[in-house]
Amino acid sequence: MELENIELVATEEIEKCDDLDQLNETRVKYLGKKGLIQGFMSKMRDLSNEERPKFGALVNKIKAAIEERIKIAQEKLEEKKINKKLESEAIDVTLPGYKFNTGVIHPLMQTIEEIEDLFIGMGYEIAEGPEVEEDLYNFELLNLPKDHPARDMQDTFYINPNVLLRTHTSPVQARTMQAKQGKPIKVICPGKVYRRDDDDATHSHQFMQVEGLVLGKDISLADLKGTLLEVAKKVFGNEREIRLRPSFFPFTEPSVEVDVSCFKCNGKGCSICKNSGWIEVLGAGMVNNNVLKMNGYNPDEIQGFAFGIGVERFTMLKYGIEDIRNFYLNDQKFLNQFKGVK
Ligand SMILES: [Zn+2]
Repeated sequence: MELENIELVATEEIEKCDDLDQLNETRVKYLGKKGLIQGFMSKMRDLSNEERPKFGALVNKIKAAIEERIKIAQEKLEEKKINKKLESEAIDVTLPGYKFNTGVIHPLMQTIEEIEDLFIGMGYEIAEGPEVEEDLYNFELLNLPKDHPARDMQDTFYINPNVLLRTHTSPVQARTMQAKQGKPIKVICPGKVYRRDDDDATHSHQFMQVEGLVLGKDISLADLKGTLLEVAKKVFGNEREIRLRPSFFPFTEPSVEVDVSCFKCNGKGCSICKNSGWIEVLGAGMVNNNVLKMNGYNPDEIQGFAFGIGVERFTMLKYGIEDIRNFYLNDQKFLNQFKGVK
């Protein structure tokens, strides 16, 4: 390369450098110890005494010019590097945020929590028990011996002749009575239960109950009625009334079906209450003397009541849900309706 061209060529090359590494390579190529400028310097030896200072001055001038160009390019590239880093770290507040899909407490759990809160407020404890249960606790200790016809009321999933999936949460009551050994009791037992039902709009082979048991001195049917009226008001609204109709459960004597005045038509008659003004919501009764005796209680000293709330039925009535299967399909569209309800 001619000395006259070197500044122009170096300038072009420096301007093409995209980053500091490339620039450094270019610097070495022109200004390094074995670089092109040094190459011209070493040619000075071959020149005459007159030519040498002139040539030396020119090489130095070109060298200084190239150094200056490299310095300017370096500053630019360093600035570019910093800007790039800032750009990558910058937060663009105009970008849309990430959407987080929050879950929703299952409507059945919302109902259970609501019922639990109410009863805890009335001094009840919460008791739980196994879903895979012994026949003894599920039936026998509740006045349902092996050959009792009322067992047919509850189609049961048996695991073996003595072990089954509980058909109600009543075995928790039997277990509680056995544990308390004659002492007063005030518990509710929420949980899943299982029956060999074909699933349809109003039946499910798995559903949820909250059963309650109160045992103590001088507990009467009036206490049961007062308690259930509180539940009805809390769940279905303050204007609700309840009525008791005679019924039959082996566990209780007398037994009652409990109706609540229709919250939709206020008793005038509508499709929900089938024009009767009343909706059947739960079963209850005074604990059968046989059950008390079998579980270590003396019926002359201690009496009490029990009730069973169908959680699905309560929830369906409360929100106007027509098909029980909705609760078990895990359909987001259905479940998301209950966001923020509680
Ligand atoms: Zn009605």
